[in-house]
Amino acid sequence: MPELRQNLATKEWVIVSRERAKRPEQFKTEKVKKELPSYTETCPFCPGNENKTPYETYVLKRNEEWKVRVVPNKFAALSSGGSLERRIEGLTRWMSGVGIHEVIIESPLHNVSIATLPQGDVGDVISVYKNRYLTASNDPRVKLVTIFRNHGESAGTSLEHPHSQLIATPVVPSHIRYRIEEAMRYYDDHGECVFCSMLSNELKVKERIILETVSFVSFVPYAALSPFHTWILPKRHIASFAEISDVEVEDLALNLKTTLAKFFYGLSNPDYNYVVRSLPIQERECEYYHWYISIVPRLTETAGFELGSGMFINISVPEENARFFREVKVE
Ligand SMILES: [Zn+2]
Ligand SMILES: [Zn+2]
Repeated sequence: MPELRQNLATKEWVIVSRERAKRPEQFKTEKVKKELPSYTETCPFCPGNENKTPYETYVLKRNEEWKVRVVPNKFAALSSGGSLERRIEGLTRWMSGVGIHEVIIESPLHNVSIATLPQGDVGDVISVYKNRYLTASNDPRVKLVTIFRNHGESAGTSLEHPHSQLIATPVVPSHIRYRIEEAMRYYDDHGECVFCSMLSNELKVKERIILETVSFVSFVPYAALSPFHTWILPKRHIASFAEISDVEVEDLALNLKTTLAKFFYGLSNPDYNYVVRSLPIQERECEYYHWYISIVPRLTETAGFELGSGMFINISVPEENARFFREVKVE
């Protein structure tokens, strides 16, 4: 019989369909990805083409060469200029579309990704995430900062060159607000952060753990919404990503890179999205929320049922996914 599982923190239910479940190795991407060159003349993010992007908002250099560049998105979803205005007219609510939309170019090389970059370079990318997160958080118009990475066409990327994005919005969307309220409710009932509870349980039962490093744990959540859906949580209770320490940045680089290398080698470089879920810096003292990274590989299609019910059907078993990843050797 299929089973329903609920994620303690997000309250989302998922149908884990054991009968329809595929074995982990059946999720290997069959689509052959073309070999990319390390430099492409027409790529706006490759060195030498810096004038094809708008001004830099931040740049990290080593030995006079840039390692990570941050530029405004040329087709920004929100405008960085202008003031925040709200209007309520009858039944309509309106706000000016202000916010921040940046592109974080992760490397001068065209053909690398987080899974294949050296750990030190991944650390550079994460420290730039932190810098941009802090800067965006301190903009008084901003209520939520989202850092995300789209890898591959089915994850929605239009440019091959390795990059992440940051979007800072002037509102907190309702589903995020709901999660925050649920986390608050759990804290009221149990006197502990729901994510800390979840993490200590995962470390106790061990069967869904992918990788434990000094400060971070990557695991397939008990109620993973889709095959190989993965969370990376800091062991230290921190509500805001902006509070990550330098030592933790290095350890996250190791954990994130190794976890993504397991996707890369174990599932033949599938398309994926990851998102950093965090409260803004102003909420850093918050005892009930805990920042984390959610990785969602694009291995299955979502359709009408998911759209209609908001509920997912996972055609794999989280414990089997984690065991498979634990056994994947990364180079
Ligand atoms: Zn490029
Ligand atoms: Zn916590």
